[in-house]
Amino acid sequence: MINAFGYAAPSPKAPLAPFTFTRREPGPGDVVIEILYAGICHSDIHQVRDEWGGATFPMVPGHEIAGRVTAVGSGVTRFAPGDLAGVGCMVDSCHVCSSCQEGLEQFCDDGPVWTYNSVERDKKTRTQGGYSNVIVVREDFVLKLPASLPLSHVAPLLCAGITTYSPLSRFGAGPGQDVGVVGLGGLGHMAIKFARSMGARVTVFSTSAAKEKDAATLGAHDFVLTRKAGWGAAVAGRFNLILDAVSGDHDLGPYLGALKRDGNLVLLGAPEKPLSVHSFMLISRRRNLTASLIGGIRETQKMLDYCGEQGIVSDVEVIPVEKVNEAYERTLAGDVRYRFVIDGATIRP
Ligand code: NAP
Ligand code: ZN
Repeated sequence: MINAFGYAAPSPKAPLAPFTFTRREPGPGDVVIEILYAGICHSDIHQVRDEWGGATFPMVPGHEIAGRVTAVGSGVTRFAPGDLAGVGCMVDSCHVCSSCQEGLEQFCDDGPVWTYNSVERDKKTRTQGGYSNVIVVREDFVLKLPASLPLSHVAPLLCAGITTYSPLSRFGAGPGQDVGVVGLGGLGHMAIKFARSMGARVTVFSTSAAKEKDAATLGAHDFVLTRKAGWGAAVAGRFNLILDAVSGDHDLGPYLGALKRDGNLVLLGAPEKPLSVHSFMLISRRRNLTASLIGGIRETQKMLDYCGEQGIVSDVEVIPVEKVNEAYERTLAGDVRYRFVIDGATIRP
């Protein structure tokens, strides 16, 4: 066993507090990673608050992990001590089902092993996440990180990055395409950067007037303030693709109305409460309402390589781990520009 130290939520909605635990003894296929940076995703907050149900405690959250390899098992071929390494939302899957075979491990028939709040394939060891000093992960689920980019800004790519890159590439965002991004938070700001880099025309839909300038700096062409009543009329029928990265309750109607015929509204956000849809918003122009879940390991590596080539990183505010509860409150209040990242050097017993 490896001794580990992190910050855990002891029970639902409770503040995170220092927590000592153990990681499994590394096997021949495992990589041991010293965690240098861990991003704070809104999914961490949903799970700590048990908004999706079935959460288990104590819970060390964190699935945007950037670090350095300290040891490898005898069978590991792609990593050596000293290498940079990343870990995202998954640490294992069955490897044999059709989804795994297609590189879509997030849809594994046996359920992917999530980085935390999950159970390993031995069906008994609970996983714990990245707000900690060390993690042991099988080689197949460890990503290579671009050395040319600042590591603290790379960590959020492991979730916010892949979650937005994947649907943009799947739906062909590019020149001549109008792409909307709903919710300018961690996911939203990455969606703007990727969509712009792919050549699309990008519009941000936001409830925060104060973010208009940032949206332009991040690469958006247009900004629609969704607090103004009747805002939907001006953009009706304009968009090929809209990514919805909103973490709370909201009305999908105006976003469906903003799509062209056959346009796609892709839900990325996972609010606590169900969202409702009026059938005619889909029927009238044969619009599609769909969703996307992170991305497979191969695609995550492709995204990281793309970021290395294009110089794409997350805009971050690095915090010491002692400020994690404050960062949660600020994220819930929309006061994040645009991802909090915990400095691993502060996660020490
Ligand atoms: P975040 O940084 O907190 O950003 C969410 C943004 O949504 C806010 O900044 C705000 O933007 C907007 N918003 C929040 N509440 C709203 C409301 N009630 N009505 C309208 N707009 C609202 O969160 P995040 O980390 O980007 O995550 C966003 C969502 O995606 C979360 O639900 C998370 O669990 C989910 N997620 C899903 C996946 C996946 O694979 N599908 C992966 C990661 C995260 P404005 O100020 O611009 O309005
Ligand atoms: Zn996430």
